[in-house]
Amino acid sequence: MSGILDGKRILITGVLMESSIAFHAAKLAQEQGAEILLTAFPRPTLTERVAKKLPKPVKVIELDVTNTEHLERLEKVVREELGGLDGLVHSIGFAPQDAMGGNFLNTSFESVATAMHVSAFSLKSLTMACLPLMEGGGSVVGLTFDAQFTWTGYDWMGPAKAALEATSRYMARDLGPRNVRVNLVSAGPIGSMAAKSIPSFNELSDTWNHLSPLEWSTADPEPAGRGIVALLSDWFPKTTGEIVHVDGGVHAVGG
Ligand code: NAD
Repeated sequence: MSGILDGKRILITGVLMESSIAFHAAKLAQEQGAEILLTAFPRPTLTERVAKKLPKPVKVIELDVTNTEHLERLEKVVREELGGLDGLVHSIGFAPQDAMGGNFLNTSFESVATAMHVSAFSLKSLTMACLPLMEGGGSVVGLTFDAQFTWTGYDWMGPAKAALEATSRYMARDLGPRNVRVNLVSAGPIGSMAAKSIPSFNELSDTWNHLSPLEWSTADPEPAGRGIVALLSDWFPKTTGEIVHVDGGVHAVGG
């Protein structure tokens, strides 16, 4: 059976638990014919355990996206395993606890800087680390949470996502001539590990229950995974600098 990612080589970050959006992207990518590699943070053992639940065996590479040595050695390891890349999934977000949960006006710059480094700048640093592997062009897909609005308790992750969204547009501009597309999936709330660190996650879920034109389930990361796989495929060949909302339609309604 042929899949929409047949013959594609994809590096996927952010698989931590079965609830990770990236886990579902990885599962669907394999089902659609891709050869994938996973990166792991904080420990490869955690990701390796979850990866056993994927349809096919997969190699896991340790990668802290703020660690320059990890980024520098990535190209060699990926080249040895896959020979090159056709796609890259950035499914990474983090903010220290004092940057979320109603402390917006008092958060230290140190914490804001960490949120920005891990959640926004890393789209650029990770992509540049992988760029030599995408000789024939490629598709880079990241994950955002709609940065047009404020969200209760989301606090400095909001500006970090706004930075991620702007970063993806500038990268789309600068990498277009190399036939590298850069797009984001803007997902609705999903009860992952990252979500557990958002103190107001239940309020975000309630917002979706009230507003979403399509029924939304915080327990189902698969729709976001499908959006990622679609953007990795050849079915969005002239789409770059775009944000595809996989949010049940909440971005389109005004309450
Ligand atoms: P998750 O906790 O499963 O994934 C977050 C990932 O970030 C983890 O795998 C973690 O290892 C990784 N990470 C954190 N710091 C890192 C570092 N220094 N280096 C490398 N990796 C690091 O949660 P998720 O919900 O699957 O989150 C994935 C992406 O989706 C994030 O960008 C998140 O902001 C975004 N997102 C999540 C939701 C949601 O409600 N869960 C909604 C929209 C967007």
